[in-house]
Amino acid sequence: APPSAAPPSTAASPAPAREELVRITDCRQAYHKGAAADLVVLDDVNLTLRSGEIVGLLGRSGSGKSTLLRIIAGLLPPSAGQVLWKGRPVVGPVPGIAMVFQSFALFPWLTVQKNVELGLEAKGVPPAERDRLGEAAIDLIGLSGYENAYPKELSGGMRQRVGLARALVVQPDLLLMDEPFSALDVLTAENLRTDLIELWAEGKLPVKSLMLVTHSIEEAVLMCDRILVFSSNPGRVAHEVSIPFAHPRNREDPAFRQVVD
Ligand code: ADP
Ligand code: MG
Repeated sequence: APPSAAPPSTAASPAPAREELVRITDCRQAYHKGAAADLVVLDDVNLTLRSGEIVGLLGRSGSGKSTLLRIIAGLLPPSAGQVLWKGRPVVGPVPGIAMVFQSFALFPWLTVQKNVELGLEAKGVPPAERDRLGEAAIDLIGLSGYENAYPKELSGGMRQRVGLARALVVQPDLLLMDEPFSALDVLTAENLRTDLIELWAEGKLPVKSLMLVTHSIEEAVLMCDRILVFSSNPGRVAHEVSIPFAHPRNREDPAFRQVVD
């Protein structure tokens, strides 16, 4: 046969083409430590994120996970390596990326609604449109009725819901979540995880992809399609694990039904 002939396809159906959102190649990050030697936090980091997936970043405390998120979001230029967003080099904060933090990072002097709408204000969205989008995000995340409350009047779980609404209101392509459940008690964390997964499975989250940073294996397995296991000193992607049936949406997959039915 001529060398150019393609081998016959054995796959039952080709995987759907998914948009590549992030590609990181040979990324390195070193922090200067005064007179001491530089601290190499990340070395040889390679990864891609595509639309339609929840990707976990699982690693020990201090392994450079938060540093990597800042690099992906364009908040920190890496010491070396390439960071692409939708195929283009990242040169500053990426507008299509939003973040949620372990500590919620809310403004205590602003109401829930004002906290949520802050990102829209920065984007120059007119007030009426801000209110409409803000209320939709507040509704979606289960905060209806708390629009005029202040963060200190809310439980930790509710505060993190505000953090999520604030990130979702801009309808980001990618939502980066940096240990979003770590500050919550077990049951509150469980509730929020479940709600988030259900919204994702129902296609109600206005995002294309989620990245979850966690040090909990259970959490990563429960929530993610794919887990990048991070090594420490320096941080790099040491293993990659696919969990194709981790969340409810994928349990409708015929391949899964074939096994369990
Ligand atoms: P993780 O999120 O996995 O806990 P981080 O990315 O926060 O890890 O930090 C990795 C290492 O880099 C830690 O040792 C931390 O002290 C150090 N580090 C983080 N940010 C800075 C910074 N801005 N300047 C100097 N060192 C930093
Ligand atoms: Mg961190």
